[in-house]
Amino acid sequence: MEGTVSKKLSSENIVIALTKGRILKEVLPLFASAGIIPAEDIAKSRKLIFDTNLPNLRLMIIRGADVPTYVEFGSADIGIVGKDVLVEYGAERFYEPLDLKLAKCRLMTAEPNPSIDKTDKSQRTRVRVATKFTRITSEYFASRGEQVDLVKLNGALELAPSLGLADVIVDIVDSGMTLKANGLEAKEVVLEVSSRVIVNKGSMKIKNSQIRKILTQLSEKVGSDYK
Ligand code: ADP
Ligand code: MG
Repeated sequence: MEGTVSKKLSSENIVIALTKGRILKEVLPLFASAGIIPAEDIAKSRKLIFDTNLPNLRLMIIRGADVPTYVEFGSADIGIVGKDVLVEYGAERFYEPLDLKLAKCRLMTAEPNPSIDKTDKSQRTRVRVATKFTRITSEYFASRGEQVDLVKLNGALELAPSLGLADVIVDIVDSGMTLKANGLEAKEVVLEVSSRVIVNKGSMKIKNSQIRKILTQLSEKVGSDYK
């Protein structure tokens, strides 16, 4: 019997996964306005799990690319993640009830400006594209009927063209200043990005009333209904 009781209690606990950096910075004020307040200063702590003012709600701080994984497998019930990371992982694996409209940016193609001497490139038959988001990028070029070679990089993408590693990059663009500082120019929008709330499909069923309560609180503050 005791086992049943503790199982019931734990099924009522909600864990929200999010990341340090830009998303945490923009989401914490939203959480506060929705009445969700961490028990201690997350930015100053090395802990990975935080209690909140709400007895059954905890926050988990992990790497952005890991948020979908933790939510898909149910270690977290809810996640807050950039649309870029979500689409790259596979958005169909989650409920995606709410666009928080925070951490807005774009995934864009960018090329050297002025364009680099192409003599080197003429040896190659295909355009080479460097990106962290290989799935989104390959689907983007495929949808345009363009065959490209992808190079997966995890950071400092702006270097790739000048070093001859790639002709084009697909990267996050906000102001475009980083690109400009590296002699690149943003060209085409691949994906409009903002932070999304994702929910584990099982959690949505089992913990429905609590999750709805959180979604309602957040959506009221964001100013749009959740799906
Ligand atoms: P990381 O460097 O680990 O990707 P960031 O905090 O830089 O972590 O980015 C987290 C998320 O914030 C990204 O997945 C994207 O959705 C969004 N983001 C990244 N860069 C920007 C930016 N310059 N402006 C607005 N949003 C951004
Ligand atoms: Mg970053």
